[in-house]
Amino acid sequence: MIGFEVLARDGAARRGRLRTAHGNIDTPVFMPLATTGTVKAMTPEGVAATGARVVLGNTYHLMLRPSAERIATLGGLHRFMNWPYAILTDSGGFQVMSLAARRTISEGGVTFRSHLDGRPYELTPERSIAIQHLLGADLTMALDECTPHPSPREAVERSMELTMRWAERSRRAFVERPGHGIFGIVQGGIHPDLRLRATSRLTDIGFDGYAVGGLAVGEGQATMFAVLDATVPALPQDRPHYLMGVGKPGDLVGAVLRGIDMFDCVLPTRSGRTAQAFTRHGSLNLRNARHADDPAPLDPECLCPACAGYSRAYLHHLSRSGEILGSMLLTAHNLRYYADLMATMRTAIETGSLAAFAAAFESVE
Ligand SMILES: [Zn+2]
Repeated sequence: MIGFEVLARDGAARRGRLRTAHGNIDTPVFMPLATTGTVKAMTPEGVAATGARVVLGNTYHLMLRPSAERIATLGGLHRFMNWPYAILTDSGGFQVMSLAARRTISEGGVTFRSHLDGRPYELTPERSIAIQHLLGADLTMALDECTPHPSPREAVERSMELTMRWAERSRRAFVERPGHGIFGIVQGGIHPDLRLRATSRLTDIGFDGYAVGGLAVGEGQATMFAVLDATVPALPQDRPHYLMGVGKPGDLVGAVLRGIDMFDCVLPTRSGRTAQAFTRHGSLNLRNARHADDPAPLDPECLCPACAGYSRAYLHHLSRSGEILGSMLLTAHNLRYYADLMATMRTAIETGSLAAFAAAFESVE
């Protein structure tokens, strides 16, 4: 069981606090990806310095290499990666569908071959929960099937029903420990009635938190927001709401307005390695020649290491030269930008000004 308090509300938006075995998490929150047990191009100290108090580890990658059993023997994922704060692990489902070879999905689970060496594996709801337990995740995800978009409605419905049966098995396999919790995942594509059926099934089972999965897969922002409008009001209001795999800064603002508390996305870290920087005044491509002579920092108001000591001209030079430091500095900046955006929204909710913030934000984007 994990604690969750809603400290303030502003419309549908909530300012909350999660209590885990590895510390408190202020929400709404963005969770950086620590895919293989590292936030790429960052030290754990650097990640914490951006304000992050929770990162996301990937079950699929870690079960293949170095294996959950090895990490458990070495003291768990927190100790293994030297991250003292909270960790959420995904169930492995999404990456099995997107990365593994020769997948076969059945009622029992999914069998596949590793994309690294072709070795066969089986991932069932029970095995996914056991792996996440071995890793020592504070926040565990139920195994779900991620339906490709677009799919015929009958396929989406069949897949959602399978996810609901897997959710029940995942819940049963989860070992209760203080400060540890399990989230169920609402599927159902872009169909509001399927989303509502999934929500009601998950609520009946009873989870510590509720995730909305299967969005930001090409349906577009307006459709994603419409699904949230139909789904989020039906989720238990005293539990955290997590929108998986989202997203761009404007997606985060729109989803927080609709009552989402938690996010993860590859965007700030991946962009940091491809010379893209997010700023209060829009995004920048540092490879662009217009930065070559610019002595100004990325954002004079940002408190990250990149903005404290380096010019746009230098960041341009690093990215043009393929230097590792360029990826490090831009990743630190982007994570700080995302963390600051969430902190600004938390304050806006406390002061009842989130709608005004969102309107001003849209005009900049
Ligand atoms: Zn910065």
